[in-house]
Amino acid sequence: MATDERTAPEAASHFLHEIIERDLASDRHGGRVVTRFPPEPNGFLHIGHAKSICLNFGLAARYGGVCHLRLDDTNPTTEDVAYVEAIQRDVKWLGFDWADKLFFASDYYEKLYAFAEQLIRAGKAYVCSLSEEEFRAYRGTVTEPGRESPYRSRSVEESLDLFARMRAGEFPDGAHVVRAKIDMASPNMKMRDWPLLRIRHEHHYRRGDAFCVYPLYDFAHCLSDYLENITHSVCTLEFESNRELYDWILEAVGADPVTRPRQYEFARLNVTTTMMSKRKLLELVQRKLVSGWDDPRMPTLSGLRRRGVTPEALRDFCDRIGIAKTNSVVEVALFDHVLREDLDGRCPRVMGVLRPLEVELTDMAADERVAFDAPYWPAEFGRTESREVPLGRRIYIEQDDFMEAPPKDFHRLAPGREVRLRHAFVIRCDEVVKDPTTGAVTLLRCSRVLTDAGKRVKGTIHWVSAAHALDAEVRLYDRLFLTDSPGQSDDVATEMNPRSLEVLRGKFEPSLASAKAGERFQLERLGFFVVDEVDSRPGAAVFARTVGLRDTWAKISARTEEKAPKAEPRAVSVTPPKSAAKPARPTSAAASSLAATYGITPAEAHLLEDEPLLRVLLDEAIDAGAAPKVAAKWLLHDVRAAAMGVRSLPFGGVAIAELVALVESGAITNAVAKDVVATLVRDGGSPKALVEAGGLAQLTDGAAIEAAVDAVLAENAALVARFRAGNANVLGALLGQVMRKTSGKANPQAVEARIRTKLA
Ligand code: ATP
Ligand code: MG
Repeated sequence: MATDERTAPEAASHFLHEIIERDLASDRHGGRVVTRFPPEPNGFLHIGHAKSICLNFGLAARYGGVCHLRLDDTNPTTEDVAYVEAIQRDVKWLGFDWADKLFFASDYYEKLYAFAEQLIRAGKAYVCSLSEEEFRAYRGTVTEPGRESPYRSRSVEESLDLFARMRAGEFPDGAHVVRAKIDMASPNMKMRDWPLLRIRHEHHYRRGDAFCVYPLYDFAHCLSDYLENITHSVCTLEFESNRELYDWILEAVGADPVTRPRQYEFARLNVTTTMMSKRKLLELVQRKLVSGWDDPRMPTLSGLRRRGVTPEALRDFCDRIGIAKTNSVVEVALFDHVLREDLDGRCPRVMGVLRPLEVELTDMAADERVAFDAPYWPAEFGRTESREVPLGRRIYIEQDDFMEAPPKDFHRLAPGREVRLRHAFVIRCDEVVKDPTTGAVTLLRCSRVLTDAGKRVKGTIHWVSAAHALDAEVRLYDRLFLTDSPGQSDDVATEMNPRSLEVLRGKFEPSLASAKAGERFQLERLGFFVVDEVDSRPGAAVFARTVGLRDTWAKISARTEEKAPKAEPRAVSVTPPKSAAKPARPTSAAASSLAATYGITPAEAHLLEDEPLLRVLLDEAIDAGAAPKVAAKWLLHDVRAAAMGVRSLPFGGVAIAELVALVESGAITNAVAKDVVATLVRDGGSPKALVEAGGLAQLTDGAAIEAAVDAVLAENAALVARFRAGNANVLGALLGQVMRKTSGKANPQAVEARIRTKLA
């Protein structure tokens, strides 16, 4: 049951609601709705689990039911009590309460053995003594049926006896398994006498050394659901083919065919640039590629919590992405967007300088002090709290708020120019002091400018008084991975962003001296921050950036400033606060209207909403004749991915229009277009010229494609034989080789057709 009722009524309706409502209407389970969240305690929970938690607890809350927290701990080698504790902490933090419904699959071992004996007695299971290698050979393939194990015809008595001796520890690991007796010719591999229990001489973190036979997932899971009277057992799509076995086992043990639990699958959460596998996350921890499971760059709930993410933002994110039956990948920028929206209403605005440049205010006396009453909130919030911000003769400003030779539209400080100090007054830069040897600017001498009411000073910058400043460590986080779906390569370390953590020492306004661990605030113009709960010490706070005010990948500032002067990227309060109350919305009105205007998905619209530069490029591309939807796809997916971490883009929307035209007309293949995007982002230029210069045009010459196909088929006799034997899966490998041979220039459909004809 959710402690926050918001989760239930607001979440968009989806197919699981229909199923449950149908079951309630037919009174299948006597009005009960019992779900469960079943993590294996072999790692920390991540943002993908959050989706499952919100779904399972949310369904129970919506229909007045209960949700069990079940530790699915049937694998002794990887599980640990530390994970059990972390899981409970994280589920609670996310805002959900299992009350007294905490269960452990490891408490069911005795009952599971009894079920196994029941199946053996009924002739529905047997003890099989094939070696692992033989087992694989007998199993068959997706295209060929399996063969029956010679042990399948063992008598019930012999199987029962062997099973008892397995449990008594008479046999080594792998000597025997208990298998279901179903159908070795079934098209579903899970139905080919799937193993149910196996021998493992291992210590279990809860049950100690009492057992050496452990149930496998397919046996333990459905029966745990059955023992707990679960009504709706929701899991991710990978388990679709397990459902038939789930149903078979429950029916074989005599579960009531009407009221027994049923399995339903939904699409797992995938997020761009985010690795979501406990096994791979464990590798990062073990290889010390991160500081631990709670490293703020990790997608774990503990990492996100430590980075300052709120449970409300996570739940909101899970609501917005919805529940579907087909897998998709959610943009990480959407998560950041939801996060900013949440933090905006809860973080007071304060000032800090990350890369200090000293400024001397020459018309103040050395010991002179003034103080300003500075509101914590922008006026739109209608909140009146404020603090005093002191100012003395010396202050710090941000190094990049000063330029010695600035362009005309640089609205910050420069020799002879004026700028407003946030909450204070306007100053003019009179003198620039430099280090005589390095030439670096070390000090600015400025004087106060009295402004009359009518005078407009364009820029406002943040500052901190030197005599009052609090010194603190600042940690700026960026994406942990540079690849879009990390974890695919042989060594995950090669996919990591070498600049995912930047540590600075900053200067902060004195009001932050009393900030407590876990407290959140917005540093004006710099982002949302939190006081790190792990590394902060009394008198030595560590401030960590939760998220920037703008998406950091998109700091393609040069063009943004030039193209969209209205959206001055570093202006105070970049995120316009909407209202003090949190708005309720599945998709913001702005995003919906963007989605409608350009014919793109809401997730893509969120990206555009967050990133004015892409908007500018898109508008330019459309002006140059590109179809909005197609241009948006290339910009939001390919250009965006290639431009990650890049600070300026050396091309405009016209180049995008050219690229789209080349692809749409069939002049180049998608594969080549992707390479062109990479070159464009790196070096700029015109796609047409790049294609001409590189000889990248699509191969239209049938003879050339034919030659490449023939060569690949000749070099791959083994693959060809497998294809002819009915294994259609190898087609992809052959196709890939032809594409490589033609440097991506062949039309993939033409190649595929040709391979099929040749091998028919
Ligand atoms: P991982 O693949 O990260 O190791 P897992 O599936 O092995 O995760 P479990 O502990 O078995 O982890 O997962 C507990 C529950 O969380 C399962 O019901 C599983 O379906 C669900 N879950 C895991 N990952 C995701 C995800 N990315 N999106 C939605 N649900 C998920
Ligand atoms: Mg699992």
